[in-house]
Amino acid sequence: MNIEQERADLLPCPFCGCSMSMSAVARDWWRVAGDHDDDCILYDQRHDAPQSDDQKQALIEAWNSRAALQSQDRDEGYRAMAAEYQRWIDAYHQGMDYEDFLKKEARRIEGEGE
Ligand SMILES: [Zn+2]
Repeated sequence: MNIEQERADLLPCPFCGCSMSMSAVARDWWRVAGDHDDDCILYDQRHDAPQSDDQKQALIEAWNSRAALQSQDRDEGYRAMAAEYQRWIDAYHQGMDYEDFLKKEARRIEGEGE
């Protein structure tokens, strides 16, 4: 997949509207990043995932689902996005793959209703 195709797969930034692209960073991470406006809430934010084909697709889907939600409440949406991203990184360092993480997240969301 070339860069142009990857860019087309990603929704633009929900806050400033810049286009987003994915690149390989470090030795084994995918990163979603964009050329944000200086005052964009995501200006300094990067969204990374371990570098494997399924994680890459999961990252694209994760970004797009968040980007689609942002029009509702910017601050709340951003906080939820940042918190979930942090939980995913923690889970990754515990040896979890993204699928296990999503299952854990589903259980956590169920638990919140109690
Ligand atoms: Zn932006």
